[in-house]
Amino acid sequence: MSARPVQTLRGSCHCGAVRFEIETDFPELTTCDCSICKRKNALMVKVHESKFRLLAGQESLTEYQFHTKTARHYFCKICGIYPFHRKRVTPDNLGINVNCLEGADLAGVPVRQAVGAAMP
Ligand SMILES: [Zn+2]
Repeated sequence: MSARPVQTLRGSCHCGAVRFEIETDFPELTTCDCSICKRKNALMVKVHESKFRLLAGQESLTEYQFHTKTARHYFCKICGIYPFHRKRVTPDNLGINVNCLEGADLAGVPVRQAVGAAMP
């Protein structure tokens, strides 16, 4: 698939209360047309939970669930930014808001349109 090097990147919400680190080689980015991603205008990269570390801000995260209540959507209760969520179909993976990452080189990474709205 991807010939990109694995990068370790840090990310944060806007106010900086929530900080995290991921490892990924950015095989692809995804957008999603489900009811919540559409409203967030989310551009995401998927990482396994073993490649994700929450560095700070557990107490600043608020969780929002809807529909099947499998996916866990987190946002910062101070600044309201969505930094990541736990995915519904693959709950051991997280969707990361790539716009929260510092220094991500995303040039040439393919963007896939996921069809969340069509999921039952
Ligand atoms: Zn914040």
